[in-house]
Amino acid sequence: MLPSARQYFNFVILFFISFNLSAQVTDSRVTNKKVTQNDSSTTVKEITDLPEDLKSKLNTTANQDLAQLCVNQLSQFRGFLSAPKQGPQKTLSDICSNALLLDQCHSVNKVPLYHFNFSTNQKNAKKVLVISLIHGDELPAGTVVKYWLERLSQLENPRNQWRVIPVLNPDGLARKTRTNANGVDINRNFPTKDWDHEALKIWKHLKQNPRRYPGAQANSEPETQCALKHLEDFKPDFVVSIHTPLAVLDFDGPKHKSVPHFDYLPWKSLGHYPGSLGRFMWFERKTPVLTAEFYDEAPKTPIHLEKLQDIIGNLVQLL
Ligand SMILES: [Zn+2]
Repeated sequence: MLPSARQYFNFVILFFISFNLSAQVTDSRVTNKKVTQNDSSTTVKEITDLPEDLKSKLNTTANQDLAQLCVNQLSQFRGFLSAPKQGPQKTLSDICSNALLLDQCHSVNKVPLYHFNFSTNQKNAKKVLVISLIHGDELPAGTVVKYWLERLSQLENPRNQWRVIPVLNPDGLARKTRTNANGVDINRNFPTKDWDHEALKIWKHLKQNPRRYPGAQANSEPETQCALKHLEDFKPDFVVSIHTPLAVLDFDGPKHKSVPHFDYLPWKSLGHYPGSLGRFMWFERKTPVLTAEFYDEAPKTPIHLEKLQDIIGNLVQLL
């Protein structure tokens, strides 16, 4: 029996969709392969018995790969590069050329988890660590961290010393999932003291939501291990974790009589869980954590982002 025109039309559409899907899958495989190569080239730079000129060449290649990965990831977010009023304008490529990598910092799929350092010689400067996209499907977090990077890149001598990890969960970002490539919620995988007794028990009690799976063991995930390396290496005075969509500022830190006013997001405590960054850093280590939960949609202008960054700069000075 010959297909009707309608069936023929459906077939063409189906073919087109599956062709597109397979093209996307192939595309992501290529990306992963490229990134695996990046990772091996960054490992190569640790070889010490190579001639100097070859070593510097390999380092350059590694840095270029890292910069390219950074441009690829961050160019998908809205940028406000024209916004900073002072100083020369920097492009995303300029900013990404300063991307750095701690040894062994990569995702499950071997994507490097790069970071940026912004140093200062200001007296009394405190150390602020910003972690974004710990949950891969919270895309406006990328817009927030991109603007903060743009702004910090324009400053000669910031009030505080900043370290920024723009994408802690690149596999989740690529798949648009909250969890990493192993299906683990990194923000439930930190090795809090109660993890062994409580994490899986509470997860089961909360209907085993796969979006909040804490992993088979504490600190089982390479992304969690990388975050711990940064905490150990940088020793922050203050940690900022950027999320969506709850639209609140959740501060785990010393009690203040009055918190700085921020009209875009109210201050509200959300609680904390076994394996969460807030419990690990504040309740067990007394390093304050600000969980900045933005709306589902990124702000249209950078005004609120600028103000929040300044509030953090002030708050950290008060500690
Ligand atoms: Zn989140």
